[in-house]
Amino acid sequence: MDVRDIQICLGHDESGDTPFGASTPPIFETASFRYPSFQSLLDGLAAEHAHPVYSRGQNPTVEVLERKLAELERGEACKCFASGMGAIHAALMGLLEHGDHVVTLNQIYGPTLQALEHLQRFGVSHDRVLDLDPEAIERALTPATKILWIESPGTMTFRQLDIAAVVDLARARGITTVMDNSWATPLLQKPLTMGVDVVVHSASKYIGGHDDVVAGALVTRRELLQQIYYRAYLLGGAALGPFEAWLLIRGLRTLPARLEQQGRDASTLARFLSEHARVRRVFHPEHRPEEAELTTRQLAGVSGLFAFELDTEDFEEVRRTIDALRLFKPAVSWGGVGSVVISPNRGSNEAELREKRIPPGLIRLSVGLEGAESLVADLETALAQ
Ligand SMILES: *Cc1c(COP(=O)(O)O)cnc(C)c1O
Repeated sequence: MDVRDIQICLGHDESGDTPFGASTPPIFETASFRYPSFQSLLDGLAAEHAHPVYSRGQNPTVEVLERKLAELERGEACKCFASGMGAIHAALMGLLEHGDHVVTLNQIYGPTLQALEHLQRFGVSHDRVLDLDPEAIERALTPATKILWIESPGTMTFRQLDIAAVVDLARARGITTVMDNSWATPLLQKPLTMGVDVVVHSASKYIGGHDDVVAGALVTRRELLQQIYYRAYLLGGAALGPFEAWLLIRGLRTLPARLEQQGRDASTLARFLSEHARVRRVFHPEHRPEEAELTTRQLAGVSGLFAFELDTEDFEEVRRTIDALRLFKPAVSWGGVGSVVISPNRGSNEAELREKRIPPGLIRLSVGLEGAESLVADLETALAQ
């Protein structure tokens, strides 16, 4: 991890943001901001992205967080949202018009795909590409393709794609690349430095890190952010509240330490599972030898979310295994301090999963802070049943 990044997380960049030498920035819990004259208010309204006028636009506590996330991603500007989906929806609404086409690459977050399905009603079409070789990607691009939406490592199977190669393909055609970087956080992967145009985050995961806040962020060039700001953010209304921003600033304080332990423990668990007789395969960057070069080039480490495939296709066995775990709790979301487990298999969607190339025996683990020894023991007991 980068030393400067650790200092930003810890708050070494906040001196101008904390009056009275306070150790943390204040929470500006206010809806509006009062101006000394009507003309100065009008000036503020004329450039709302740059002035706190109303907290649906700018708020100073939220701005402290935005400056940190922009710097961590090595981007010019950041906007935070009331959820990851708020950020994703704003990116789509802010960048697309009627007639545009989107290509999604790799397994991507399900609700992002659902948002694209909905956008078909407004004349925006899309195609999904799961084969990651350059020819397959090129075949999916059309003259109307406006966005290449990528995720690496991808949802559920955690396969990586060659980000620089995708960026080259997109740039040659004037296509905007948008990447969901929630898995890695800016500490482990910096897509903008590899040429990606827009990074989106679900800050509800590692950045918040304590399962107590839902939030999102978008980092990009100033000019592109301004377009998304006025077309989608300000009108979409998914503004992040100042208290939630403060929770995320606090979450960042421990992000480097949490990621360090959770990544290390996930590696230990993945190794244990890869040698277990009931496990068909492990979906984790360190268990894909064909991606070793990508891992070295793109990732500064691994986070604590990965999956494995039970040696079965049977939903009942998946259900029983999940219910036999004691420390891993069945829950949605991930990246918090407590370990959680889920499977995309709902007992009725096996065919759909196979069509999406997700094995019905897949179980996803988010490794918390309980410690590798206890978590291995928990898996060992559950798999023995
Ligand atoms: C959770 C998640 C999102 C959506 O974020 P919310 O904060 O839940 O709206 C987007 N992308 C990925 C990869 C996620 O896991």
